[in-house]
Amino acid sequence: MFADRAKIFIKSGKGGDGHVSFRRELYVPNGGPDGGDGGRGGNVIFEVDKGLNTLQDYRHRQKYAAKDGEQGGKRRCHGKDAQDIVLKVPEGTVIKEFESGKVIADMSGDNQRQIVLKGGKGGLGNQHFATATMQIPKYAQPGQPSQELWVSLELKVIADVGLVGFPNVGKSTLLSRVTNAQPKIANYHFTTLNPNLGVVDLDGANGFVIADIPGLIEGASEGVGLGHEFLRHIERTKMMIHVVDAAGSEGRDPIDDIYKINAELEAYNPEIAKRPQVIAANKTDLIYTEDENPVEKLKAEFEPKGIKVFPISGVSGDGIKELLYYVSEEIGKLDSKTIVFEQEFFPEEELLYIDLPYIVEKEEDMYVVEGPKIEKMLGYTNLDSEKGFAFFQKFLKDTGILDELEAAGIQEGDTVKMYGLQFDYYK
Ligand code: GDP
Ligand code: MG
Repeated sequence: MFADRAKIFIKSGKGGDGHVSFRRELYVPNGGPDGGDGGRGGNVIFEVDKGLNTLQDYRHRQKYAAKDGEQGGKRRCHGKDAQDIVLKVPEGTVIKEFESGKVIADMSGDNQRQIVLKGGKGGLGNQHFATATMQIPKYAQPGQPSQELWVSLELKVIADVGLVGFPNVGKSTLLSRVTNAQPKIANYHFTTLNPNLGVVDLDGANGFVIADIPGLIEGASEGVGLGHEFLRHIERTKMMIHVVDAAGSEGRDPIDDIYKINAELEAYNPEIAKRPQVIAANKTDLIYTEDENPVEKLKAEFEPKGIKVFPISGVSGDGIKELLYYVSEEIGKLDSKTIVFEQEFFPEEELLYIDLPYIVEKEEDMYVVEGPKIEKMLGYTNLDSEKGFAFFQKFLKDTGILDELEAAGIQEGDTVKMYGLQFDYYK
């Protein structure tokens, strides 16, 4: 089955811990620290594969975890970095944080490859922590933690033009006639659940990509009849071709149909409803009335509103050329860039602060601060660098640790201890 949506769990690898060890050599009683650094954990990377057009694989397997980095070893031995995992997706896949629905990555346009979850950096071994006052550092940095997240994947096709219209008005027939696509054409509703894409080639004019957005019906914007499933695919199209059954062969009123479809578009996303439109008045080969020509009625209704009407027949091919050249010209006037969704959720920043408590305790004349969050943060941060130290200070403030220390009665010059780290407290 075609799948344009999936929910998966992804996890990057933890960084390997730094190692604590000391040189042991004959005749050298107190060898210096020689604990090696840990290796980097694997990243979770998404990559566009142009050969794919479905998210089906992600329906079969839900969990994707990269491996952890190796721990550092004795004699400055560096732990091995873990391999990244690369998840291949069709072009146009939008990756969202599952709970909030915020966009993490839009795999389209220039963005063909993105690291979505970073593997943790390896921790530094104790070889780095020797100082003039601390000759035998028993502390090594832990590796950075892994990150994990439920994400939803949504395929939003990339097409310049969307064909919209009620079932059976002739969208698939039109698509198959003007492109290389081979959609299913049949005289019953909901034949095509997946959007079909095709490329229109034109002599002497720019071609474009057209998508058959199947089965738009009333209530689609509220999710009736798989409505949202279809509307999702329209989000990137720059222009819409309304296909109507001008002959009213199934008893539909074409004018009313266009208003209904536009009401659905408006309810789903008003921005989409504002995009340029054109009407393909289809099945003109079935129009026999001479007095009240339905095409003229459509023109009278919509052309004053700036929506042009083209009488066509998907069966005989009449009028289709004119329609296509007009559409090509109109698209040429629009911004040529693909509509791309901006990143709204940044895993690296947002996952760091998720509910990890800490404790502040006074032990003799020292204030001890502990908690996974702090350990995590120390793993992330190189305190030797100015930037790292500034980040550390901001972290203490933002997390409320400074307030807690004050509340516990800390005075200037008192000592604070956090894991391997000790420093004097100054405001
Ligand atoms: P869709 O549901 O909008 O994709 O409609 P289809 O393309 O599947 O067409 C529905 C039915 O209408 C099929 O039986 C087509 O053969 C028929 N049809 C489509 N276009 C025309 C046309 O221009 N003239 C006539 N007479 N029949 C058409
Ligand atoms: Mg169809």
